[in-house]
Amino acid sequence: MLRKPIIGGNWKMNRGTPEKCKEMLESLIPLVEGINDVDLIIAPPFTVLIYAYKILKGTNIMLGAQNMYFEEKGAYTGEISPIFLKGIGVEYVILGHSERRDIFKETDALINKKLKTALNINLKPIVCIGEHLEERELGKTKDIIEFQINETFKDLTKEDILKTVIAYEPIWAIGTGKTATPEQAEEIHIFIRELLTEKFDKGTADSIRIQYGGSIKPNNAEDLFNKENIDGGLVGGASLQVDSLVQIITAADNSVK
Ligand code: PEP
Repeated sequence: MLRKPIIGGNWKMNRGTPEKCKEMLESLIPLVEGINDVDLIIAPPFTVLIYAYKILKGTNIMLGAQNMYFEEKGAYTGEISPIFLKGIGVEYVILGHSERRDIFKETDALINKKLKTALNINLKPIVCIGEHLEERELGKTKDIIEFQINETFKDLTKEDILKTVIAYEPIWAIGTGKTATPEQAEEIHIFIRELLTEKFDKGTADSIRIQYGGSIKPNNAEDLFNKENIDGGLVGGASLQVDSLVQIITAADNSVK
């Protein structure tokens, strides 16, 4: 099954001024311009999305947002409409990141609503799932993943799920420097495909891209991306350094050669 790997750079609440954003993107663009076998996404803070769009237009890097609200418009002070995101050239949106779940108390039900809205307006969702360290240590990883898949993807059609990217991000590996081993990640990616086979069918499950996320660095990217069921990665810390990000992108590109 040929799935195009996808690398997403999640800048989180960093590089949110025009100067920093410009510096990063203008040095990244020429270094990845020959990469055609990997989808490349940069998700900067909202403050520079439109600015980033102008810099990225015509390049092979697509624009992503880090969050959105599920309503399209109205009295929701401080929230961001997915329609506005689409209107300024955003193609992808990260939903259910563990920082949104843990710090901002987003529930699977809320993420499900956001997911349905994103799909409705053709914004491509990257949905994050993953377990906490205590849950892994108690042997509950698969239960947590199954629950999140059932709740987050509730009532989705086959067409919907085929447009969705899943990011398996064990929370204990995010920003901690502790990476899941390629074998640990692959085991959960296979499990996710089994769940999707039960919910939809094998052809569908085999077509969906599942990224890994959690302290991906240049020195571990190749081993992760060489696993059959890992289709690239969602990268936080290492996406803030152009040279690291380029090495990670190159590892994903090599994994399909
Ligand atoms: C993330 O924020 O999705 C992430 C994986 O971060 P990091 O690469 O820093 O662990």
